[in-house]
Amino acid sequence: MFKQMGFCFNADDCIGCSACEIACKNENQTPSGINWRTVKKVSPELFLSVSCNHCDNPECFRVCPHRAFTKRRDGIVEINQNLCDGCQLCVAACPYHAPKFDPESHKVSKCQMCYPRQDTGHLPACVEACTTNALKLVNLGEFNNPNIVRSLPGFPDISITSPSIVFFGQKTRKRYFLSQGRLKT
Ligand code: SF4
Repeated sequence: MFKQMGFCFNADDCIGCSACEIACKNENQTPSGINWRTVKKVSPELFLSVSCNHCDNPECFRVCPHRAFTKRRDGIVEINQNLCDGCQLCVAACPYHAPKFDPESHKVSKCQMCYPRQDTGHLPACVEACTTNALKLVNLGEFNNPNIVRSLPGFPDISITSPSIVFFGQKTRKRYFLSQGRLKT
């Protein structure tokens, strides 16, 4: 069975608290203005927490002239900043805007799925910090659930790179309103 570590995001459970984004920043000490993970409000009731998706067919890997990207045996797409010359071809090619260019260092960086943490038996910082368990780490090689979907409204086109993320979509929510002092649906 192949191994492909990926994210599983439950849109119903995300409350937009940005704990994942802050945990990522603290763990990786990224420069000011460079966030490897971001929480976005894509509609009045839908937040997405997005980072590099460690794609099956990573465009960053394909376009990099310096072979700075590697795909590990567990599916994590890693960038070696020592090989990066700041050409930004990966920045333009990634459909998810995951690679971030730092004008100070003239290098690109991105989410590495906390592989140093995973290699020592720990969860990625974002997953560990998620207050509602909306963001999970899964091995997509064996993860199977009939309710998962490959994309959600507001998520970029998945057809080019096959990102290693799956979603639980939003269920229709009951809406209440006050009528003559009583809650009604
Ligand atoms: Fe590369 Fe972008 Fe896919 Fe990450 S999300 S593996 S940077 S193409």
